[in-house]
Amino acid sequence: MFDIGIIGAGPAGYTAAIRASQYGLKVVLFEKEFNGGTCLNKGCIPTKAILHSAHLFEEIKQFPKNGITVENPSFDYSLIKQREVKTVEKIRKSLTKLITDYGIRIVEGEAEIKSPTAILSNGEKFECANIIIATGSKPNKFKFNGNYSDDFILTSDDILNLETLPEDITILGSGAIGVEWARILTGFNKKVRVIELAQNLIPLADTEVSERIERIFKRNKIEFYLGTTIDKIENTTVTLTNGVSFETEKVLVAIGRSISLPKTENLTIETEKFVKVDSNFETSQKGIFAIGDVNGVSMLAHSASNQAVQVVEYIKDGTPCSFNKDLVPSVIYGSPEIAWTGKREKDLENIKYKKSVFLMAGLGKAQADDNIEGFIKLLSVDEKIVGAHIVGGEASALLQEILILMNLGATTKDATKIIYAHPTYSEGVLEALEGLEGLSINSPKVKE
Ligand SMILES: Cc1cc2nc3c(=O)[nH]c(=O)nc-3n(C[C@H](O)[C@H](O)[C@H](O)COP(=O)(O)OP(=O)(O)OC[C@H]3O[C@@H](n4cnc5c(N)ncnc54)[C@H](O)[C@@H]3O)c2cc1C
Repeated sequence: MFDIGIIGAGPAGYTAAIRASQYGLKVVLFEKEFNGGTCLNKGCIPTKAILHSAHLFEEIKQFPKNGITVENPSFDYSLIKQREVKTVEKIRKSLTKLITDYGIRIVEGEAEIKSPTAILSNGEKFECANIIIATGSKPNKFKFNGNYSDDFILTSDDILNLETLPEDITILGSGAIGVEWARILTGFNKKVRVIELAQNLIPLADTEVSERIERIFKRNKIEFYLGTTIDKIENTTVTLTNGVSFETEKVLVAIGRSISLPKTENLTIETEKFVKVDSNFETSQKGIFAIGDVNGVSMLAHSASNQAVQVVEYIKDGTPCSFNKDLVPSVIYGSPEIAWTGKREKDLENIKYKKSVFLMAGLGKAQADDNIEGFIKLLSVDEKIVGAHIVGGEASALLQEILILMNLGATTKDATKIIYAHPTYSEGVLEALEGLEGLSINSPKVKE
């Protein structure tokens, strides 16, 4: 009898397996495809490896004004892909070793839930006191009006499998995946159009962030259409609901993911697009838990791994889970980075709040790096930070600093007593904190 049977070895499943094993629990982990799940094999890591190459190629354009000459730079996408594949394989190998070193039994195969305490895989039945479903999500297949070949439409999985990049691409959706690919492809000098149904790019971000990214997209010649979607496709001609029509080589659909659920027998696990869970991630079936993308609470790798350690704690000794959706960091990679957490201005409409926006251009480090695009925006209520929205160099790391303050409940005044190294981008956090009291040293004096 295993203490926990875990289905899916993505960030949710493998993290839960290792933590449970660290606590001395006996664990069996089922994976039907690749250890590391979507994140390692089709998401976070492969895209970042390709983005890294795109970023380097873009950086070369800045070399001359930094006094460096490079003649006729070019790239070979097959070599870029090779490095990406090798990176993923290397991590997958060490991850598999890590899991087995913990004495966790890995079953390579599809798992089915036979009862609240039994899992079947490869014809073998495993008795488990608790079951964790960590089966993640997959991209939806879209069918548009009109006639076109199947390979004209790409999902986020398909685009990773291309051997050459399209010269001209249309991306449907401007969330993290859409914007990241827009930046990758523009980095490689490809023509990119982005179609977004909402009135701003990155609809989940604070409007000031979205508007800044719109300006940057315009400057980088990324075409975008807001408040519209694809109406129909005829061969390679896309027509939008606003009547605009254009030819394109491929369409990347970067919206809509649906959950992967294991087969179950004689039990009903309530779902409503995602698996329904309570605050301890327990499903409608007692003893069966669902964590990560599959519960739809927050479809990010770090949310999956955080839920994993919490649910194991709950299974071990009943410690209640406390996943705070308001303190989840969201990051969109590329140049400049975009990162945010907590409340946006539009969430605070009926609340008295303070706002501070510090421009990256005010930082010596940003000027020295010739990387002055962006800002750090903080929102506070009753001396506590309730939202942080950053565009600019090292935004992901800066956000993490702010998240520490938010998690520890630091007052904005206390946080300004911390000494920040000079010259760093972190100094911008101090400036933004001081700006909440009108005391930012390196911001323009407000005219009276
Ligand atoms: C292109 C892209 C880029 C992304 N970039 C980021 C990023 O930069 N940062 C970030 O935080 N998030 C990112 N994400 C999201 C992130 O990948 C997911 O939030 C994360 O992988 C969810 O983890 P999970 O463990 O819940 O599910 P998954 O990672 O999807 O893992 C689920 C696993 O379960 C297995 N499985 C499913 N059914 C069964 C079954 N019946 N039996 C056995 N095994 C089964 C699957 O094969 C899979 O390996 C990205 C996603 C995509 C698509």
